[in-house]
Amino acid sequence: MTPNREDYLKLILELGGDQSKINNKQIVSGLDVSAASVSEMINKLVKENLVEHTPYQGVHLTDKGLEKASSLVRRHRLWEVFLVEHLKYSWNEVHDDAEVLEHVTSETLAHHLNEYLEHPKHCPHGGMIPKENQLVHEKKREKLTDYPVGTKVRIARVLDERELLDYLVDINVSINEEYTITDVAAYEGPITIQTQAKSVQVSYKAASTIFVDKI
Ligand SMILES: [Zn+2]
Repeated sequence: MTPNREDYLKLILELGGDQSKINNKQIVSGLDVSAASVSEMINKLVKENLVEHTPYQGVHLTDKGLEKASSLVRRHRLWEVFLVEHLKYSWNEVHDDAEVLEHVTSETLAHHLNEYLEHPKHCPHGGMIPKENQLVHEKKREKLTDYPVGTKVRIARVLDERELLDYLVDINVSINEEYTITDVAAYEGPITIQTQAKSVQVSYKAASTIFVDKI
């Protein structure tokens, strides 16, 4: 499936593009598309006043872009909660179906879904679910790669991205778990995290998209 403009806006938001500049390289790896398609889409988004582009630095969302992305993210994450809580999806399986559903969800349906789910505050990946007409502002958090050995952390949010989620299921790491960082390998090698029951090695690439709270 070729990502459309909404996918770009959502990814830029997920990467923190409401507050800082996101470079093309991050978008290329987040959407698994070519650098040329990213530049082409960024040009379109700039023309529509949805993002602002600063040469050599990257893009950030305009107010209009943030509003649009927030409303999509709200619908997407409400469906994710529904699929996990009521249809027994696993957190790595929800993305594709939530993606389709968000585009056919009216504000009325989103409103009723939200009532039915009793106003969830977070999606299964730890992302914030904004209220109606509220903008998404993810809490600013450090990444797992930002902390030294010995730090105790809680997994607070991970990027809603299929490959990453499949990987986390494989290595048995879930949201809200608490770990101590016991080893950080040199040259962007794996990061070892441990609970009393298990010790897990997380690749540097994955660790750089896992957001944690220090505890
Ligand atoms: Zn999510």
